[in-house]
Amino acid sequence: MENVVIIGSGPAGLTAGIYTSRAALNPVLIAGLQPGGQLTTTSIVENWPGTPEGVDGNKLMQDMRAQAEKYGTRITHGTVEKIEKIAGGFKVVTDGDTLEAKAIIVATGASAITLDLPNKEKLMGYGLSTCAVCDGFFYRNKTVAVVGGGDSAMEEAHYLAKLASSVTLIHRRDKFRASKAMQEKVFNNPKIKVVWNTEVVDTLSDSSGLTGIVMQNNQGERSELKVDGLFMAIGHKPNTDFLKGLVELDSQGYVLCKPGSTVTNISGIFAAGDVEDNKFRQAITSAGRGCQAALEAEKFIEGHTN
Ligand code: NAP
Repeated sequence: MENVVIIGSGPAGLTAGIYTSRAALNPVLIAGLQPGGQLTTTSIVENWPGTPEGVDGNKLMQDMRAQAEKYGTRITHGTVEKIEKIAGGFKVVTDGDTLEAKAIIVATGASAITLDLPNKEKLMGYGLSTCAVCDGFFYRNKTVAVVGGGDSAMEEAHYLAKLASSVTLIHRRDKFRASKAMQEKVFNNPKIKVVWNTEVVDTLSDSSGLTGIVMQNNQGERSELKVDGLFMAIGHKPNTDFLKGLVELDSQGYVLCKPGSTVTNISGIFAAGDVEDNKFRQAITSAGRGCQAALEAEKFIEGHTN
């Protein structure tokens, strides 16, 4: 039986890997479908302390992984399908393997939410996207729209403005929830036009993919906008389906931890990062929670009697 299995390879999971391996717990870390997590889909991260010039999100995650491996974290790949309680610990069933561990740190993060649009499945990757850094390249000198009013939407719009000929930022209210600094970047960018109080309700397409969108404002008026791409930046959903029925989740699916800790309702299961944090959701707070989960798991394992 392993001491600890960490599920997830974003800042929370890899920080937990660094701490538990340095504590000689010989951890196994299961990296999922998106190794490195959401930061691998951003460009420059400007708020990671100690990097006044900013740091490339991919590079930051590669370095965190190298640091975790340097101290002995064993990284495997797979998707966790379920966790079962067994005598002395837990069984972790992935799509290709089964592991047993005394403690588990869940750091599976969150995934992008998409709008419920007609033809969505058909058009994903053919005009519809949730990641400007991943797909922006295909929209050089083309017209795009971004939906959302949070930091992600500002970041996507700003990034796309460097490539696309025009960016229309569509928000359902008359105020952004994004930080002032991110809003300023958008307002100061002449290539970005903001459409307020409006939702995207339909897609227009031909055999090659998206050709436009249908918008509806809060007066119920509809209009069409010709665009080559629509980027949805409307928030994230925690990746907790495999925990249902075992670990206590809130109404949105986030893992519920005891106040001030990473301890869940199941003794021996800890949670860290976007999977349990619906409020701050920053790389740095996730890393901090990963550290905390590692220290709490270490203490738990010390007292483990089986
Ligand atoms: P978010 O803050 O939850 O914002 C989601 C946005 O999407 C909101 O403006 C929301 O509108 C809108 N929205 C939600 N459902 C919608 C729907 N069905 N139709 C139309 N619009 C919809 O999510 P986020 O922007 O992904 O940010 C998540 C967290 O990551 C935040 O804490 C943010 O600060 C952080 N983040 C930080 C950075 C950075 O610091 N560089 C970059 C990206 C993200 P309402 O406003 O009307 O609710």
